[in-house]
Amino acid sequence: MARYGIVVDIEKCTGCHSCFLACKDEYVGNDYLPNSVAQPESGHKWIQLKEVERGTGTKIKVDYIPMLCQHCEKMPCGVSAPEGAVYRRKDGIVIINSEKAKGCKKIVNACPYGVVYWNEEKNVPQKCTLCAHMLDQGEKTVRCAESCPTGALVFGDLDDPNSPVSKLLSEKGDRAESYKPELGAEPVTKYIGLPKPFIVGEVLLADKAKECVKGAKVTLRDGVETVAEIATDFFGDFEFKDLKKNSDYTLTAEYPGYFPAEMNVKTYASVNVGEIVLKAK
Ligand code: SF4
Ligand code: SF4
Repeated sequence: MARYGIVVDIEKCTGCHSCFLACKDEYVGNDYLPNSVAQPESGHKWIQLKEVERGTGTKIKVDYIPMLCQHCEKMPCGVSAPEGAVYRRKDGIVIINSEKAKGCKKIVNACPYGVVYWNEEKNVPQKCTLCAHMLDQGEKTVRCAESCPTGALVFGDLDDPNSPVSKLLSEKGDRAESYKPELGAEPVTKYIGLPKPFIVGEVLLADKAKECVKGAKVTLRDGVETVAEIATDFFGDFEFKDLKKNSDYTLTAEYPGYFPAEMNVKTYASVNVGEIVLKAK
């Protein structure tokens, strides 16, 4: 028996919405009972793109996080649902039974990821079924992953080492994470490249009409430990990626013949420290 799952490579997602449209194409106007009644034309986003903006000024980054049912091991959505209304199939897919869940709005609110939608007309909660009806007919993929032009959504059998999802995990698995693991739902869906704080800035020389300098050494420390040491690029820019949130760092900029500059930076969010102007000795 297969054990299905999706891994999302956020670094490849362009926010094109093909996955969202493919989901609409499959489910709007089509019943796949008992897994799902037809999705309404508007109001439901069984796969939704969360836009995350980081940085300030001219140093802005935008990421898209495709958010769909995480097919959680703990299934908090089903905790107070009627018997059999929410269940996990042997292949790992979490299903809301359209008949047994009728009238049970609690299922919408019980999902900590906000991916269950209420169908007012049919009086039923609904969400991604991981295209279970297609898999049951022998299909090997799901509509959202099939439609993704960049390979950001990868689906497959997690227990098959030759499946696309297992191959991706063997390549980049050390960076695969759950989204908000602190919610305790134990999601099966994993994400690669979840946005983390960065620190950026540029180094200039005071006596050269504030000219930016290539090759200045910029060091980031966490206490006494050096996190990274980099050289500024042609534009005098530097960037430290994938930092810890709410951490206190010390940043030092150095260039031969100039006094070093040091500052403390806290990563409440991503930080643009702006211009660091070094004075000649
Ligand atoms: S993401 Fe929400 S709906 Fe999906 S299994 Fe987890 S708790 Fe249930
Ligand atoms: S289809 Fe792929 S690239 Fe486009 S928004 Fe969805 S996950 Fe991102």
